[in-house]
Amino acid sequence: IVHWPIVASQRKRLSWVQLAGHKGSFKAGEEGTILKKFCENEKLCFERLRGDVLQPFVPGYHGVVEREGENFLRLTDLIGDFDGPSVMDCKMGVRLQHRGSLVSLCLFSFKMPPCRTYLEEELVRARERPKLRNDMYEKMLEVDSEAPTPEEHEQRAVTKPRYMQWRETLSSTHTLGFRIEGVKRPDGTCSTDFKRTRSKEEVIQVFRDFVAGNINIIKTYLKKLEEIRKILGSSEFFMTHEVIGSSLLFIHDHTEKAEVRLIDFGKTTALPEGQTLNHQVPWEEGNREDGYLWGLDNLLQLLNSLAKE
Ligand code: ATP
Ligand code: MG
Ligand code: MG
Repeated sequence: IVHWPIVASQRKRLSWVQLAGHKGSFKAGEEGTILKKFCENEKLCFERLRGDVLQPFVPGYHGVVEREGENFLRLTDLIGDFDGPSVMDCKMGVRLQHRGSLVSLCLFSFKMPPCRTYLEEELVRARERPKLRNDMYEKMLEVDSEAPTPEEHEQRAVTKPRYMQWRETLSSTHTLGFRIEGVKRPDGTCSTDFKRTRSKEEVIQVFRDFVAGNINIIKTYLKKLEEIRKILGSSEFFMTHEVIGSSLLFIHDHTEKAEVRLIDFGKTTALPEGQTLNHQVPWEEGNREDGYLWGLDNLLQLLNSLAKE
């Protein structure tokens, strides 16, 4: 009872929620900001986004700060201006992994010859057998006891890239080019149980529940997404980066205010000088395509059909 007022005020300050990522990689910041665990790659992305047409559509970046000996990126809290917000994290694209893990996938999961475009040192690293994970094998069993190969059953373990690749086949990542990572409802409850949400109908149902049947909000989201789609077409940053594991964050509240932002550039990397991507053509080994626009167009189509109901 004595501690209650303190807890209540802390709760107010920590109004934002984390729908993905490792617990503990975020802290509340000052004045409408949050602190995300430092990642050099993500910092570079935010620096390059400065001055790009995409900048208004990503969280404001306020530099690197140190807390208790650790570095953090200071970012604008995107849900701060909402009243009891509903939040959804949609991970975009068909590839959620680094090139590094794909090399190991090729070598160990599919026994395919390594592709020449990979760097020598990456190949050397990939040849060191990745660690076998019993915990991931157990998780795989829980979902589908027939998923592990006989060899994996025998060693009662799978490699991490193998597990991640298998997990993607359960969701809409490969069929629609995006997947729902998590949803937070206005009452504060969160759900991250969408790993098997795969079909168009299932995804539409999650969106319908997310807006509690309010089609006005879907229409606002559509407008925002169409704007983002247009901006992406003229963004220098987007054209010259491989966007892996980035999300669209959907936020709305009971006033029907709704916003969409691009977040999470931890795995987004610049292409070699002079190279560009079209983000639409299928991924083939070596072409570095990420399927971002293919996913976005599928998402637009799906929300359009929901708006017409
Ligand atoms: P992962 O790589 O596993 O997806 P991560 O550690 O890179 O996770 P993010 O994806 O950037 O973390 O963020 C995780 C969650 O934190 C998001 O789903 C969102 O709910 C919340 N979040 C992230 N950035 C912001 C922000 N600027 N404002 C409000 N909420 C945010
Ligand atoms: Mg993320
Ligand atoms: Mg990330």
